[in-house]
Amino acid sequence: MATYKYAKVPAKGARIGYEGGELQVPDHPIIPFIEGDGTGADIWRASVRVFDAAVEKCYGGKRKVAWMEVYAGEKAFTLCKDWLPEETVDAMREFRVAIKGPLTTPIGGGIRSLNVALRQLLDLYSCIRPVRYFEGVGSPMKEPGLLDIVVFRENTEDVYAGIEWKADSPEANRVIALIKELGMNVRAHSAIGIKPMSEFGSKRLVRMAIQYALKHNLPSVTLVHKGNIMKFTEGAFRDWGYEVARDEFAGRVVAEADLGKAGNGARADAVVIKDRIADSIFQQLLLRPAEYSVLATPNLNGDYLSDAAAAQVGGLGIAPGGNVGDGVAVFEATHGTAPKYANLDKINPGSVILSGVMMFEYLGWTEVSTMIVRGLENAIASKHVTYDLARQMPGAVEVSTSAFGDQIIKGMDR
Ligand code: NAP
Repeated sequence: MATYKYAKVPAKGARIGYEGGELQVPDHPIIPFIEGDGTGADIWRASVRVFDAAVEKCYGGKRKVAWMEVYAGEKAFTLCKDWLPEETVDAMREFRVAIKGPLTTPIGGGIRSLNVALRQLLDLYSCIRPVRYFEGVGSPMKEPGLLDIVVFRENTEDVYAGIEWKADSPEANRVIALIKELGMNVRAHSAIGIKPMSEFGSKRLVRMAIQYALKHNLPSVTLVHKGNIMKFTEGAFRDWGYEVARDEFAGRVVAEADLGKAGNGARADAVVIKDRIADSIFQQLLLRPAEYSVLATPNLNGDYLSDAAAAQVGGLGIAPGGNVGDGVAVFEATHGTAPKYANLDKINPGSVILSGVMMFEYLGWTEVSTMIVRGLENAIASKHVTYDLARQMPGAVEVSTSAFGDQIIKGMDR
């Protein structure tokens, strides 16, 4: 076990293991958490009560999470003058499954973003964002319940590789000169950004998306790309996606183009692999949402797509996320620190709570996930909700962050 200077390892807890591609989860797993900056403390206080209540209701004390606070962001900076202490990354690696609130992005520091740093240091290559509707939440759509998707967004390549140079820097000018040498032209004084996409990175992301669809009996995986224009990056993503489907999941998947063809070798319940161009998928999710289930996409497309989809079902306050690698995962709120609401006990804790739902599913504690979702559904149905949901729900009573947590716990028994 690594040594920790600031974090305390809970005495009554055990490490999660990983063997043969499967997590080995003890009854008292140690789970590191980062409370988060701004509204993070309010949100975490409510969320952890909901998590512990659901685990207790499901397992009556036989199972219990041993929470371990680790530090990042402003709290870490105050404690040890470091925005992301090495021991926090070590804890996430050692204990394998963690959850975090939102973190301030330090301005002008050496770190581009703490969230991006964590994803890269732990090789959390897939950002998973489920988007579903909760009955009663205000939405701009006529039938928001038709959208029920899970976005798998590649997390380590494309624009997130962060390779770019300022206009007129020596590096940008060298790259421009090289591009000229290669027979292409880039306007003088341009800034330069590089968009690397590899077969390895694309295939492992699509593989995880297909495995997820098979495990959850979902009907399709759609590869979202801009391959009509960027043929060797986005187009290659699509081709590598089809390749991994064909080579590794024969019989269990079928390409949309082969549907209904005799001798395609696919089972009747095979997952359909389709592809859509990035701009088209935005209108498809608005006009024909029921035709989509799992989406696998390179980084930038996925960034836009997951927030746009979250807006269709009622906003960021209830949009969860998880960053998952091989045997390591960090679940997180998808919104930021919303600093103007810090310490007012006002903000919606739903995003972290639903990220917890994803976390318990990942641990295999699916009863807990089901229990929390039931609690949240009933809390929303009772119309006692935080300000963001209340302002979109006629007749709703606005309640605080902590009172909303209470409503969710109450809702578990209904
Ligand atoms: P933000 O914190 O997401 O807040 C923008 C607005 O979104 C809020 O004013 C609020 O809207 C709404 N909102 C956010 N969280 C909500 C919640 N839990 N419940 C209800 N409504 C919520 O974005 P920002 O102000 O651009 O960013 C603030 C800081 O967070 C920055 O330092 C940024 O870098 C960081 N950030 C961190 C993460 C992360 O850690 N994953 C992600 C994004 C941004 P209303 O004003 O309409 O109520």
